[in-house]
Amino acid sequence: MTPLRQIMFVAGLVMVALSLAAAVDPGEVAPAASPVAQPVAVGKRIALTFDDVPRGPGAFYTPAERTTRLIAALRDSGVTQAAFFANPGRIGRRSDGAARLAAYAAAGHVIADHSWSHRDLRSMSAHAFLTDIDKAEAFLKGRSTYRPWFRFPGLNQGGRDGMKRRAVLDGLAARRLQIAWVTVDGSDWNIEGQTIAAKRAGKPIDDPALRDLYVETMVRSADFSDALTRRVAGRQAPQVMLLHETDIAARYIGDLITALRRDGWTIVTADEAYADPLFDQQGDFDSANGTLPEALAWQRRLPGPLYYERNDIPRANRLFAERVLHVPTGAIAAR
Ligand SMILES: [Zn+2]
Repeated sequence: MTPLRQIMFVAGLVMVALSLAAAVDPGEVAPAASPVAQPVAVGKRIALTFDDVPRGPGAFYTPAERTTRLIAALRDSGVTQAAFFANPGRIGRRSDGAARLAAYAAAGHVIADHSWSHRDLRSMSAHAFLTDIDKAEAFLKGRSTYRPWFRFPGLNQGGRDGMKRRAVLDGLAARRLQIAWVTVDGSDWNIEGQTIAAKRAGKPIDDPALRDLYVETMVRSADFSDALTRRVAGRQAPQVMLLHETDIAARYIGDLITALRRDGWTIVTADEAYADPLFDQQGDFDSANGTLPEALAWQRRLPGPLYYERNDIPRANRLFAERVLHVPTGAIAAR
């Protein structure tokens, strides 16, 4: 759990306690009024997005192999358009990061901005943050599948610093950049990190168990967010899944897509998802950090839980140790 999420988690417990004490009926919370007619399409729809391109080496492949496998797996699964969010500042002079980014675009996937250097807004001024965005835009604009979308590094839109967030939002609007909100987050980056650490330590990795943990974690996260979205928006909306450009994605994305479809999901393009009016959130938040349904839920004072339990990193790591490394870690509260 990030420090900010820890604070929010504790605050959430207090909020639940207060709401129970006041006997607040969650049913009394008014759904959001949508100023725009509701989309015709219904049902569980989800777009796949991959952040931090180009990421460094994982546990299984060279970065070039990862890209080849990821593109092939998406194609073989019939996913014609995923979105890849780039940090061009991470393309080293001798790395193949630029070629990999170009390969995703050539395969029909859309490319968008995740900032030049992946620095967190918390660590810099709004002005410096926008300058970092401009550097990435200069690199990305004009590419065949470029989209004018910006995704905040660490999903941090300034946390509780409303002034800073407003300054960045005004800057994005001036640049005609849309916030590329995430609705589904299962901390896949941490499963990748655990896998790399286990490999480096020479621990045997149970490959089918790793696949199952990754797939199950992400499918459950999608269902969690679908339910939370219905609570905050009063309707179903397309979901946007946050994944990262990892070796585990290259290895198991086909399994994840199959499992999502079996669970009733239709994979849609990021274009379709972001056309939904739910994603046009320019207003103020008490705290803008994490997923969109989570931020809306905090704003509406909904009783928790407001974020998916496997984003609690110590809990996720216990699950990884027990299921993938077969290390007994004692009782795990919830699975
Ligand atoms: Zn990122």
